[in-house]
Amino acid sequence: MKIRYHLAVIFSKLTYFLLRLLGRNASHTPGAVAMAICPKYLEIAPKAPVAICVTGTNGKTTVANMLTDALLSLGRSAVSNRLGSNIVPGVAACVSNSLNIWGKCKVDCTVFEVDERASRLILPFIKPDYLIVTNIFRDSLKRNAHPDYIFGIINDYTPNTTKLILNADDLCSAMLRPENKRVYYAIEEMKGDIIDSVNIVTDHSICPKCHSPLSYEYRRYHHIGRAHCPSCGFASPRADYSAAVYPNEGIMCVTNMGESSDYPLVSDIVFNMYNEVAVIAALSQIGFGSEQIASAMEKASIPDTRLKETVINGSSVIMAMSKGQSCISSCRTFDYVSSLPGDKMILLVLDDYYDRKNSVEFIGWIYDVDYEFLNKPDVVRVAALGPRCLDHRVRLLLAGIDDERIFCEKDELLGARELPLKGAQKIFVLYDTSTYDLAVKVAGVIENRLQNA
Ligand SMILES: [Zn+2]
Repeated sequence: MKIRYHLAVIFSKLTYFLLRLLGRNASHTPGAVAMAICPKYLEIAPKAPVAICVTGTNGKTTVANMLTDALLSLGRSAVSNRLGSNIVPGVAACVSNSLNIWGKCKVDCTVFEVDERASRLILPFIKPDYLIVTNIFRDSLKRNAHPDYIFGIINDYTPNTTKLILNADDLCSAMLRPENKRVYYAIEEMKGDIIDSVNIVTDHSICPKCHSPLSYEYRRYHHIGRAHCPSCGFASPRADYSAAVYPNEGIMCVTNMGESSDYPLVSDIVFNMYNEVAVIAALSQIGFGSEQIASAMEKASIPDTRLKETVINGSSVIMAMSKGQSCISSCRTFDYVSSLPGDKMILLVLDDYYDRKNSVEFIGWIYDVDYEFLNKPDVVRVAALGPRCLDHRVRLLLAGIDDERIFCEKDELLGARELPLKGAQKIFVLYDTSTYDLAVKVAGVIENRLQNA
């Protein structure tokens, strides 16, 4: 097995080198080569002094990237699978990058973003020191089935030795592996919190212990918030890293073990606030002090692929990620963009590109998404672009949006050319993970039109 391992390291690195010469990412194939030569590659490869895995339904890419950037800016050598897949070959390729040609680890830290469903093939072998779970939500039925199914996978395959960094405001992931060491993070009550859910999807409305209705002290969206059971005393866990957020001052104040420290607020979007406090908790657990963490967070930013604004002749074209088939991601984005001030137009470029080519897309997810958020007077038009545009139109009509405010076109680029642009200061282009390149082209057409107007 030792010989296989060393051959795997050498051929994986050779593959990486050749692919890079060809100008490719080399973030997947070197890992697939390593696993083909040595099936126990992930298990045998020596681990970095600090190995961190990040999983969960939403936010894992942002958290893993922000954490890696912070580690690098704090002078640690770190590798992550940010350019690659978050399933086995991507993780194996990242392991290869953490090794020298002799198969010895050459970095201080590894950060692996792990697909929650693939975690059973990764966590038992990587045996991370820390596992950050951002949240567990209802996701694509086709890919992830039910949240309990995903909970079961992470719960069953996380090693006993892994310390968990969990979101106390998510009653689902907060219940993972009660016997493991853990710390919790949370965001304290803030302006805009509600008590009763306004979302179609609201899991965790009953007590997991006695099945009585839960009482929420505050709620952000869906089941995210702080709850307790009036019947048996069950309650959301107490947070070890409790964040108070001051958006006007651009500050997040995190209290840990009685000490409070201020950090720059990287984003005013609530789910990104959770991502930031998860990163702060992880850096603190690794051993960094609050001043070091604050200096790293000064340099932190949300990657451009998630939210990017271009201003042309007084109008803004804003790209925003809205993962199709994952109802929570789309709900959050719909809620956020529709609540921003000013007259706006919202373009939906969400139809899964891969599904369109290779399989039948399950459209049930659009009935879990609150299209009702888009029914606001200052949303002057909603444009559904793509082969499923008529499905979106039915859902928009059910949400009470006037037909005259809905624009539909099966061909995304034709739609971008013909869509009436008058009346909107902000034009949002919402895209799915698989439609980013297409959405960039759509935004490009709109930007050209604004330029020439
Ligand atoms: Zn109870």
